[in-house]
Amino acid sequence: MAEHAAAAEAAELFDLLCVATTMRQILALHRAMCEAVGLRPSPLNDFYPKLKAKVRSWKAQALWKKFDARAAHRVYGKGNACSGTRVLVIGAGPCGLRTAIEAQLLGAKVVVLEKRDRITRNNVLHLWPFVITDLRNLGAKKFYGKFCAGSIDHISIRQLQCMLLKVALLLGVEIHEGVSFDHALEPSGDGTGWRAAVTPSDHAVSHYEFDVLIGADGKRNMLDFRRKEFRGKLAIAITANFINKKTEAEAKVEEISGVAFIFNQAFFKELYSRTGIDLENIVYYKDETHYFVMTAKKHSLIDKGVIIEDMADPAELLAQANVDTQKLHDYAREAAEFSTQYQMPNLEFAVNHYGKPDVAMFDFTSMFAAEMSCRVVVRKGCRLLQCLVGDSLLEPFWPTGSGCARGFLSSMDAAYAIKLWSNPQNSTLGVLAQRESIYRLLNQTTPDTLQRDISAYTVDPATRYPNLNRESVNSWQVKHLIDTDDPAILEQTFMDTHALQLPHAETPGKRKRRSGDTLPQGASLLRWISAQLAAYQFTAELKEPSDVFRNGRVLCALINRYRPDLIDFAATKEMSPLECNELAFAVLERELHIDRVMNAKQSLELTDVESRIWLNYLDQICELFRGE
Ligand code: FAD
Repeated sequence: MAEHAAAAEAAELFDLLCVATTMRQILALHRAMCEAVGLRPSPLNDFYPKLKAKVRSWKAQALWKKFDARAAHRVYGKGNACSGTRVLVIGAGPCGLRTAIEAQLLGAKVVVLEKRDRITRNNVLHLWPFVITDLRNLGAKKFYGKFCAGSIDHISIRQLQCMLLKVALLLGVEIHEGVSFDHALEPSGDGTGWRAAVTPSDHAVSHYEFDVLIGADGKRNMLDFRRKEFRGKLAIAITANFINKKTEAEAKVEEISGVAFIFNQAFFKELYSRTGIDLENIVYYKDETHYFVMTAKKHSLIDKGVIIEDMADPAELLAQANVDTQKLHDYAREAAEFSTQYQMPNLEFAVNHYGKPDVAMFDFTSMFAAEMSCRVVVRKGCRLLQCLVGDSLLEPFWPTGSGCARGFLSSMDAAYAIKLWSNPQNSTLGVLAQRESIYRLLNQTTPDTLQRDISAYTVDPATRYPNLNRESVNSWQVKHLIDTDDPAILEQTFMDTHALQLPHAETPGKRKRRSGDTLPQGASLLRWISAQLAAYQFTAELKEPSDVFRNGRVLCALINRYRPDLIDFAATKEMSPLECNELAFAVLERELHIDRVMNAKQSLELTDVESRIWLNYLDQICELFRGE
């Protein structure tokens, strides 16, 4: 009966989640839904099938059908292709979330950090056809019924982020808002791996460990990859959003699709002669707002008083002190009104993140691209793969609408690199070389140069790039992308690449989490547990991973260390190992939602339980506390 009520509550929360429109609402509803069904974000197979079994409204079923179709693709290996790999994504922009979704479908444990606590960008992104298909296949219409209806091929950044946020959450991705990534923390040598320094510094995420770091934090990325600059002639863009009151008159106004309009010289001449506004291009999309983006010529901005003083340096030219905000507003409004033939009088600015009129002026003179898309850092035997995606990797030229499309391609490419990296058969240099080979294709992509069958796109680059050459970059060329404190590892990795794929056990430094591959996983868990329980003085007794169960009090101590409210450790002194394990299993199941995998008697012998099973159980417990 209680279960029935919980399922009904979860279904109700699910429906609210689908229509929620702010980040705060979405995250709160998701947390409440998980609470109602006793789940917490975890890798795909530990989360999604359980949620699906409990939330069974018709709306949910329709969405699960979409997710099932996606997850069933061979490339994901039934959600096991990356099991055991832990991925931290910096930034919940469209590309960070898109990467998180793919890594989750591949079976990794995925955590996303977003420094903002609100999603507010009204600006509108042009979507290439494959992006529309991709989003439809992820259930976009279930969250936003108007998504790309008819010939519409754009969406506000805000709406796109909300949609992807919901997909990621419903698949089991763990997302923290208001948490800023500061830098990666090297392993300390006590058994803990790579971690992240974040703000606020005491946030639970600071205890998590990772194998992969994805830089998806927009154009100013924190991972400090070397970048190359593309410097063109001075280009100044203005974006403006006006409130869409959704009147009949507004509905009739036609959009201006930029690429075609760039060539309409008669229009720009007339605009200049009538208003003094001189533009190179203009785009208008009707979305939740009326969104305009235009490239303005410097002289007209100076003539109209928007820019106060001419300066050679674009940064100084567009510095706040050199811009008359009111005149900028007038300029944007006049351009918008003229280009829509004054059919929308009384345009009112929508507000931005700061509650101010949503008008901005940007310098596009220089655009940046990362020199390399990924690298590996090895410290104290722990390896960290770092990949860039989206604007962090390749800054887009907005008017052509390449930002989101190339961004999504880079997300899928990064996910593919994670998949290769998680496969013990692949050498590190081989993975880096392949990722770089694929990166070389990215800035040449257009809707016409990609594979035609857009519904078949997956993380496998062959489904997206025709004439793919995965070996255009060889391992010699990426040797410098491994930064290690142990040169022997580099030598070994290099030998591995050339001497044919060694089994993973022989590749130093990499964590292993596969069935039958229990020793390194167990050893690393034991190291971590021993380090946590230093004050409980078990270390001498813990020689084998199985001692965690044989000793009896170890699990109780671990729970007591992180949740003293759940177990009184002093009271376990008088209890037998069997009683202690029984207590620990019950508390883990009831309070922390970790299902038991054996009974207490079996746990003392471990003869009739596969090691893979009890090690995974232990792994779940450690992951939980690393994140508590
Ligand atoms: P972004 O969308 O920039 O997302 C990066 C995310 O990372 C942000 O949510 C940010 O808050 C978060 N973040 C940053 N640093 C940290 C950190 N240290 N820790 C945690 N989180 C962090 N494209 C267009 O086509 N048309 C436009 O009009 C347009 N306007 C834009 C306006 C602005 C203000 C910005 C920033 C971008 C705009 N773009 C526009 C670009 C477009 O938004 C991107 O191409 C697209 O959103 C894909 O970006 P992304 O996910 O790579 O990065």
